[in-house]
Amino acid sequence: MIKSSDLDPNFKYEIANEPGGENIKLCFNCTGCTVGCPVTEIDTGYNPRKILRKALLGMRNEVLTDESLWLCASCYLCYERCPQDVKITEVMGAIRAIAQRDAKAGKIKITHPKHKFDTLFINSVKSNGKWYEAGVSGMFMFMTKGLGGVIGYAPMGLELFKKGKLSILPHRIKGTNEIKNIFKEIEK
Ligand code: SF4
Ligand code: SF4
Repeated sequence: MIKSSDLDPNFKYEIANEPGGENIKLCFNCTGCTVGCPVTEIDTGYNPRKILRKALLGMRNEVLTDESLWLCASCYLCYERCPQDVKITEVMGAIRAIAQRDAKAGKIKITHPKHKFDTLFINSVKSNGKWYEAGVSGMFMFMTKGLGGVIGYAPMGLELFKKGKLSILPHRIKGTNEIKNIFKEIEK
């Protein structure tokens, strides 16, 4: 049951103020995005239309703690199909950005592994200017599957290393300070 006292009528404006979230209010709930979504095809628990509907109703907490938020594969199929130009892929990113901020502030907890991967990936880009495949993948395996996961994937990593496709140490691009400044601006 939805209680009006639990709703946050400002949530849609909060999303619209995030980069990428501007068009959320144009959604007229037609289901076009969900019908063609390849993720929904394999996991019916992921329903982009429903997420947008809840967001527009002001179900802030329910939307931000919905683990399925992290399932969007950013394939942009819905982006092309939406008759209202909602730009749903970007809207999903905007909602995830709010969720990340709330998690950082200790207001909500995000347990989905995609969130862990994204955090490691972004931290790697912040430090090196590009992602450090071996470090990010190894840490992600450790965080989600423990030491057994790291050991399990080690032979594949070794093969990639032998073929020159994987570096043991991170490579830094020139101008990592500029990259850090870009992140500082974004995170203001
Ligand atoms: S296709 Fe566009 S208008 Fe239709 S439900 Fe999805 S986001 Fe909303
Ligand atoms: S961008 Fe996300 S929501 Fe849209 S079709 Fe692809 S996986 Fe589904």
